[in-house]
Amino acid sequence: MSDLLNLDLSSAQKSLKNREISSVELTKAYLDAIEKTSSLGAYIDLQKDYALEMAKNSDKKINQGVAGPLEGIPIGVKDMFCTKDIKTTASSKILENFYPTYESTVTQNLWNDGAVMLGKLSCDEFAMGSSNETAAKGNVINPWSKTIPMSPGGSSGGSAAAVASRSALAATGTDTGGSIRQPAAFCGITGLKPTYGRCSRWGIVAFSSSLDQAGPLTRTVSDAAIMLNSMAGYDNKDSTSANLEMPDLTSYLDKSIKGKKIGIPKEYTQDGISEDIVSFYETSIQFLKDSGAEIIPVSLPHTKYALPVYYIIAPAEASSNLARYDGVRYGTRKEAESLDDMYELTRGEGFGDEVQRRIMIGTYVLSSGYYDAYYLKAQKVRRLIKEDFDNTFENVDFLLTPSTPSTAFELGQKQDPLTMYLNDIFTVPASLAGLPGISIPVGLDKAGLPVGIQLIANSFDEPNLISVAHTLEKSANFNVIAQGAAK
Ligand code: GLN
Repeated sequence: MSDLLNLDLSSAQKSLKNREISSVELTKAYLDAIEKTSSLGAYIDLQKDYALEMAKNSDKKINQGVAGPLEGIPIGVKDMFCTKDIKTTASSKILENFYPTYESTVTQNLWNDGAVMLGKLSCDEFAMGSSNETAAKGNVINPWSKTIPMSPGGSSGGSAAAVASRSALAATGTDTGGSIRQPAAFCGITGLKPTYGRCSRWGIVAFSSSLDQAGPLTRTVSDAAIMLNSMAGYDNKDSTSANLEMPDLTSYLDKSIKGKKIGIPKEYTQDGISEDIVSFYETSIQFLKDSGAEIIPVSLPHTKYALPVYYIIAPAEASSNLARYDGVRYGTRKEAESLDDMYELTRGEGFGDEVQRRIMIGTYVLSSGYYDAYYLKAQKVRRLIKEDFDNTFENVDFLLTPSTPSTAFELGQKQDPLTMYLNDIFTVPASLAGLPGISIPVGLDKAGLPVGIQLIANSFDEPNLISVAHTLEKSANFNVIAQGAAK
C-alpha cells in the first residue's frame, strides 16, 4: 500500500496512464489512509462507495484510451464547494442537512477531467477563520503535531491536513484572505491561490464575493499546476470569471528564471515575525539569486492598512451573502411563534460565534451613517493597496514574502479574534489586489514545524509564477513527511 501513497499526483498520473497501477487500487489505498488518519478529523464526509465507483469508471476509460488529464486521481473537496446530491455544509450547523441540486463549476471541471472524489473536507465555518477551530464539527489536527495538538491553519485546514497526512493526493481549497496559503504553510505543502477570476465561483458557498477564489492544495508545485489546469477556466455563470485562456501550466515548470526580477517588500519583515521564518526567508532569497534572478528591494507603503481594510470588506460582504440563511430556503430551521423569532432562533443557533461576529461587524459597517466612514473608506484604501502592487510590478516580476508570521500554533492558543486575524497579515494584501500567490514549504523550524514562503505574481501570470515556484521548490528540496501521515 505505502508505495502507492508515495506517489505524488504527477507520478500517479503517469503510473495510471501506463497501467502500472489502477485507479481502484490507488483509491483503496487512500480510503485506507483516511481510516488510519481519521483522528485528525480532516474529512467530515467520506464518500467510499462513490469514490470506488468513480475509480472503476476511470479504469475503464484508461483501458479504452479516453482518459482525462486527472483520470483516476483521488482527491478531497473542501466543504465550501457544492457537490450535487452530496451533503455540503460549509462546516456550519445552519447547512447541516443541505444537499445541493447542482455541482460547482470547479468541481465539475475536475470530475470532467477524470478526478475521483474521496469526500468532503472540514474547514472553518463559512471559511471564516485561520485555525479550522470555527468548524461546527470541531477541530482538525495538524499532522505535524507531536505531543500537543496543533492547528492545521485555516480556513482550508481539512484540505491541508488531508494532503499533508497523505489521505488525499490533492485537495481543493478556497482563499479569501489566505485560506489556501496559510494552511498550506502550516502543514508543509503547496497552496496556490489563483488570480481573482481564474476559477469560477459558481457553486462555491459565498463568503466575500470580491475576494473568494478557489485553488489547489498539493504536495508539489507540479501537482498544483496539474490541478489548476483543470480547475480554472471561463464560466459564463460567474460574471467575474475571466475570459482568458490559460496556457498549460505544466509546460512552465522547468522554465529558467534567469534575469527575472524578484521584489523583496520591506513591509513584510516587521517585528513579531518568528526568527526561524526570517532565516528561511533569507535563504529563499539566496536560492532565487543563485538561480539567476535579480533581487530588488521594494516598498508597498499601504501594506499596514491591508488587515483593517480586509476585516471591514470581508465581513461587509459576508453579512450580505449570509442573509440568505433564514431558515426558509436552506438547511436548518428552528420553529417559533412569529417569523422574526424564527429568523432569530434559526440564525442564533445555526451560526457559530465567529460567523455571528462577522455578520454584526458587516452589518454595522454597511449601515447608514457608517457606510461612508467604514465601508467606502475601506474600498478607497483597497484601491491604494492595489496601486502599490501595480506600481511595484512595473519594476519587478514577482514578490517574495513569508507566508505567515509564525509556524503552526497550538489549538486553543489564540483565543481573542484580533490575535487570530494577525495571522493573515502576509496573505491578505494579495487577496485585496486580486493577485495570484503560492506558498511553498522550504523547511522546518526549531520546533520541527513547516515554514512556508510566499511568491506573488501580477494578475494572470500564473504560468511564470509556476516557474519561479518550482525553482524555489527544487532549491529548498523540502521532502520530509509529517509524522502524523499515513504510512
Ligand atoms: N483567515 C481569514 C479570515 O478569517 C481568511 C479566510 C479565508 O481566506 N477564507 O477571514
